[in-house]
Amino acid sequence: MTLDPRTLFFSMWLTVSLTIVALLVGVGWTRAGRGLRAWTVALLLQSLGWALLMVSYQGWPRELATLGAASLVGSVSAMVVAAQHYLGGSVSRVWVWGPPLLSGMVHWWVFEHFAARIVVINLTLGLQMALLGALLLRSGSGSAGRSRWRWLAAAGLLASAPLVLARAALVIWAPADYPSFESPHWLNVVGLMVNGACLGIGTLAFLMAHRDEAEAQLARLATQDPLTGLLNRRALMEQGERLVQLARRHGAPLTVMMFDIDHFKRINDERGHPVGDRVIAHFAAALHSTLREGDVLGRYGGEEFVAVLYDGGLDTAASVDARLRAWLGETQGALGFPVNFSAGAAGLGAEGGSLEAVIARADEALYRAKQGGRGRLVLSDGR
Ligand code: GH3
Ligand code: MG
Ligand code: MG
Repeated sequence: MTLDPRTLFFSMWLTVSLTIVALLVGVGWTRAGRGLRAWTVALLLQSLGWALLMVSYQGWPRELATLGAASLVGSVSAMVVAAQHYLGGSVSRVWVWGPPLLSGMVHWWVFEHFAARIVVINLTLGLQMALLGALLLRSGSGSAGRSRWRWLAAAGLLASAPLVLARAALVIWAPADYPSFESPHWLNVVGLMVNGACLGIGTLAFLMAHRDEAEAQLARLATQDPLTGLLNRRALMEQGERLVQLARRHGAPLTVMMFDIDHFKRINDERGHPVGDRVIAHFAAALHSTLREGDVLGRYGGEEFVAVLYDGGLDTAASVDARLRAWLGETQGALGFPVNFSAGAAGLGAEGGSLEAVIARADEALYRAKQGGRGRLVLSDGR
């Protein structure tokens, strides 16, 4: 079997170009999001770069060869943008625009010197790919830490990088073997095959990253209250019930607190709904900053909130209530008017019971707090 570089080359170009069409038709530009869009741009630049190099070898002007070379380097820059999007960081413009512009300029400047221009582009490409591969392997923190796409993308880049760098070395040490990128040298043949395969693997990796991102977003939407960013009622009940079971297993005290903003309807009526929304968000922020890390906090209804305090008794509820009143007093300026609330608290008690049962007792206590004149905490007698 003879592997003809020209055929391989054309087949790789065709596959990349068709992959772009498949991505645009299958996912769509808008639905792709920033990360997958950057990857699509990377493929577009690959396709454009190789096409320009191909025609420049047919005797077309040298500008096209330089543009083609810079497109290939720009393609890896676009891969950096795509990776950074899913890794959750930001990338400096210098790292995105610097390599293609700089290597393009040098390519143009040393154009008459064949070996020099091949070295410049392949060295830049190889180093970019190796650095991006290392970045993908290194970043194990955050939500991206659990995703396997990073390994796939890094494997592709780190498999390609040495071959690209070897191409630069070949031009320096054996220029006779490398009259053009279509030469039948084994490095050329292997390089083309690996490059094509890695672009396919890269596309798979970034589609996986895109799916992971969409899943995480969906999970957030399913558990988060959009106005306050706290848990919604369903997630609150699920996570709270888990805490109740944990407390029962370890014999740890657990207290449920229920909060309700006083005369909230009046705020809505007198100041308008948007101000009412701001009050709800402000109150949620107050609760969030008052409670401990391990506690579960959620929006139970309109202006009602529930906190499940793990490893804390009714005395803990009293100190949470005091801290919350102090916080609201200190930050009153942010709203421009005072906001008061009533609270009820109930403990898990020796007999146990479900979260729902404890919430019902906290709700009774809250009712008594309202009856007693509002602006206060009432502890459940039932404990
Ligand atoms: P009380 O002191 O007895 O608790 O009186 P209240 O006015 O706070 O209680 P009520 O339950 O009568 O009123 C709650 C109001 O909250 C009614 C509802 O229209 C409003 N509400 C519910 N959800 C939202 C929301 O997301 N945004 C805004 N702005 N208002 C909401
Ligand atoms: Mg209410
Ligand atoms: Mg109320």
